[in-house]
Amino acid sequence: MAKYVFGIDLGTTYSCIAYVDETGRATVINNQEGTNTTPSVVNFASPTQVVVGQVAKENAVIDPQNTVSLVKTLMGKSNFAISYNGEDVSPEEASSYILRKLAGDASKLIDAEVKDVVITCPAYFGTAERTATKNAGEIAGLNVIEIISEPTAAALYYGCAKEQGEKTVLVYDLGGGTFDVTVMHVSPGKIEMVCSDGNHELGGKNWDDAVMQYLASEFCSETGFDGDFDEYAQQDLRLKAEKAKQQLSTREKVPVMMDAAGLRARVEITRQTFDEITEALLNESIEKTDAAIALAAERGYTIDEILLVGGSTRMPQVTKILTEKYGMEPKILEPDEAVAKGAAIYALGAYEVKVEQWKEMIESGQADMTDTKTREEAEKYSEPAVVTTNEIPGLRGHRMDEVVTVVTSKSYALQVVRNGEDKCCNMIIKDVLMPGGSLSVTRQFGTVDANQETAELVVFENDFHDEYFDVDTDFILGNATLDLPGNLPAGAPIEVTFTLNKEGILEVTGRDLTTNREIHATMQATAGTIMSKEEVAAAKAKSKGIAVE
Ligand code: AMP
Repeated sequence: MAKYVFGIDLGTTYSCIAYVDETGRATVINNQEGTNTTPSVVNFASPTQVVVGQVAKENAVIDPQNTVSLVKTLMGKSNFAISYNGEDVSPEEASSYILRKLAGDASKLIDAEVKDVVITCPAYFGTAERTATKNAGEIAGLNVIEIISEPTAAALYYGCAKEQGEKTVLVYDLGGGTFDVTVMHVSPGKIEMVCSDGNHELGGKNWDDAVMQYLASEFCSETGFDGDFDEYAQQDLRLKAEKAKQQLSTREKVPVMMDAAGLRARVEITRQTFDEITEALLNESIEKTDAAIALAAERGYTIDEILLVGGSTRMPQVTKILTEKYGMEPKILEPDEAVAKGAAIYALGAYEVKVEQWKEMIESGQADMTDTKTREEAEKYSEPAVVTTNEIPGLRGHRMDEVVTVVTSKSYALQVVRNGEDKCCNMIIKDVLMPGGSLSVTRQFGTVDANQETAELVVFENDFHDEYFDVDTDFILGNATLDLPGNLPAGAPIEVTFTLNKEGILEVTGRDLTTNREIHATMQATAGTIMSKEEVAAAKAKSKGIAVE
């Protein structure tokens, strides 16, 4: 069977899968329903059957208790997405069904195995959210080559489209549930992130909410109804509001037929009204955009071009405000497909690098092929893909691991005592370049008291650019305990190293320099909402017995 690798845009409201075809073109693969994107909605139809996509979205109206949407907003934050059949379903498991739907449909359509994937996530996702995304892929039975940020994927797709000169581009990505703004420097064969910011509670769904409110109040004044909409009417209204919003992107006004509580009314909404009731939302995105432009300017970059990504950038108000405010007309970059296509290109490049690395390691004897784990890992990257990145114009002659340089997506701090006060000390600061794909920072601290038995390393993940900030337990990522000999004086040196990889996973090492005792922890294993390896394996086993449609 021909070997392909895939890029998956696992979106808040819609998801999409793409691959690089034999001719070297990034192509989206339609689902069984024949559409290029699939609603990220999961309906638990029976204990052995899950329905994903448009059908699930429609089922949400008649079966709201067993349907879950917007699950991406829960990734890494909660271990509960929905309860079905007396069992709690985690966001990772719910997301795994979306991935299985995409992979299953794609596999049928192109008649190839869908196994090796790169999944995208918002740039502001931290360690827990990225790990949760990776775990969702594993539960779905996929080999997740890497997790990359959505704007990186979009910029890669854009940058690879043709060979071009140097440019600083701003990616304005307004999706269904999230907003991301990223500045990147693009030059031939090179994409460097400059900074990124976002609001994970701002997206198309907020625009839908505004339309829902408007339609409901119009309905009430027209029919005289003054009660609450029941759950059925709410869901129905949600679908109609989203549809009306989308139609307003190309029409000046749309009629909406509404029924609730046995009453019917025809309500109209104009583009002008729509723009007015959503102006505050649009302005929130502009504030973040201003901040990103200012931070980029501090680093010596001026924006040459604005790229639009995400379905919600189809709203004419977006192009209008960006053009007015920044004096340049943004480029629309296939709003629904750019991220998945960029991820597909990245997947191909990353896969190629891995195949090459394994080949070298095996040939040089560096890889111990008698070890089962090593052999299994090598097996994953034993077969070259049918197409190489040399077929992609902007990538010819470049290795993917040298093409994309990302910045840290979060700041990481250690709790310390400073001038007698508990403080958080940021060892890794957000928006710093990670050349080679990882960043390691080592600092020395001292024990507080004499004869301490242990030193507790409490790690915080945050968005601050400052070195010190007040302790806030909301930001705790995890902790590790370093055992001490118990006879050290106060101020005994403790060396702490934070190593962040490009997937946003943090490793922490603490060393007592007096006796060289060490503690080594991967933060993904300690934070409360991150699934353990055992939990992932159990979810994977459970998911195998469930059919996805
Ligand atoms: P994404 O997560 O990037 O797929 O974006 C999905 C969001 O884009 C949803 O909120 C959709 O309602 C919205 N969207 C899709 N098409 C349009 C359109 N023509 N006009 C306005 N919003 C749209």
